[in-house]
Formats: sequence, structure tokens, C-alpha cells
Amino acid sequence: MIQIKDLHKSYRMGSNSLHVLKGINFSVKEGELVAIMGSSGSGKSTLLNILGMLDVADSGEYILDGIPIKNLNETKAANYRNKFLGFIFQSFNLINYKTALENVALPLYYQGVGRKERQAKAMKYLEQVGLREWSHHVPSELSGGQKQRVAIARAMVAEPKVLLADELTGALDSKTSYEVMDLIQKINDQGNTILVVTHEDDIAHMCKRIVHLRDGVIVEDKEIEQVRASQYVQ
Ligand code: ADP
Ligand code: MG
Repeated sequence: MIQIKDLHKSYRMGSNSLHVLKGINFSVKEGELVAIMGSSGSGKSTLLNILGMLDVADSGEYILDGIPIKNLNETKAANYRNKFLGFIFQSFNLINYKTALENVALPLYYQGVGRKERQAKAMKYLEQVGLREWSHHVPSELSGGQKQRVAIARAMVAEPKVLLADELTGALDSKTSYEVMDLIQKINDQGNTILVVTHEDDIAHMCKRIVHLRDGVIVEDKEIEQVRASQYVQ
């Protein structure tokens, strides 16, 4: 589903340059649930933003579902982004004056889907995240966990190939974080490919594979069984 090869990224600030990604290689198969873990500043969000086509690498290859991303022009890139990728952020990024249902339906609106179909699909995904009864509430009437569930439904509504989550539990207490991760596992069990960026061990351990980023390089990449096995040895 995702293949990246020798990815580099620097940020330029005035005459200075900060080399953030220093040759990243990895791939993700369909149906995986991968944590990209690492301490703050290690380059996790930078990597996720490139995978999510919100930013571009300076060099290296990125192939998404068989398509080399750097050959796409801006319009095509935007189309691929909308079709292939769903985003979930720490800060939910919901629209305050719109109901849960309207928030979830929004990506379909931008894709030109008709009102009836938009509403039906949005309701279907709200049900999937357990918020059927809350469809007509606005974000200020929802708890943090509920808001994140709305954001998850919104990320899924256009049926993307890959869900990308950046610190999706960062604004939630630990109990709510585990509930949201349970939901992520359930969605993955249905076959969805999901990448979860997190600096929290507990959250990473709820994924099937952990890719550990340190100072812009991958220092470890293991299936969860391997991670657990090596922890018992210690
Ligand atoms: P993480 O998500 O792992 O905390 P980031 O990818 O956000 O790390 O950031 C990696 C490094 O790049 C940090 O030192 C950060 O300050 C810097 N950085 C991130 N975004 C930008 C930007 N737009 N411009 C300049 N520096 C940035
Ligand atoms: Mg980050």
C-alpha cells in the first residue's frame, strides 16, 4: 500500500536548515496497523505529513497504492489525497457550528456527492463509531472522546485506503485514549490500513507493528509479537 525509499526532508529557516528526516525506508501492506513512535521532535509528524501528501519530501521515493507520488501535479495530488487518505488529528479539527453529522458529511460535500447520499453515509459511519444518538449535536456538546470519534467517522466517510492519525489520543485522558484505540483496532479488523503517530508507549503497543523513529531515522521496526518477546527477555 505504501512504499518509501530513502526519504529526506529538511526545513529551511532563513540561512539555516534543519535536517529532520535522514533517509527513511519502510513499507506498509494493506490491512496493517502501524504505530510510528518516537519522542517529541523525532520527525513523526513530518513523516506522516509527507505520507499524507500534505507536504513533500526533498528527495526519495514515495509510492502509494502503486502510484509514484512525485509525478503528480497539484490537482491530481489533491484528488489522490481525497480518495486514498483519511486524516485524524490530536485537536480533532471539527467545525464548531456544524453538527456531528454535518462534520462527518463534509468530505463528501467537497467530492460533489449529493445531499441524500452524504447524509446516509455520514450516518452509517457515525453509527460505526457509536455516535448514532449524537448526530445532531455540535462539538461543544460532545466530550473529547466523542469529538475524536466524530473525527474518525469523518476520516472514514470517503472510504479511503489508508487512515493517518497524528497523536489522536494526545488530548484525551488515558481511559478515553484506550477506548479510542479500541475503536481504531476494530476499524483495522475490518481491513483498513491505519498508521498511528504517537509518543506514548501504551498507545503504540495497541498497534500490530511499531516503527521507532529517533532523530529522523528508523531505529527499530518490529511486529508487536517481537516487541513483546524482547521485553520479556529483559
Ligand atoms: P514530532 O512530530 O516527532 O514531534 P516533527 O516532525 O513535528 O516531530 O518535528 C521534527 C523537527 O522539525 C522539530 O525539531 C521541529 O521543531 C521541526 N519542524 C517541524 N515542522 C517545522 C516547520 N514547518 N518549519 C521548521 N521546522 C519544523
Ligand atoms: Mg508531532
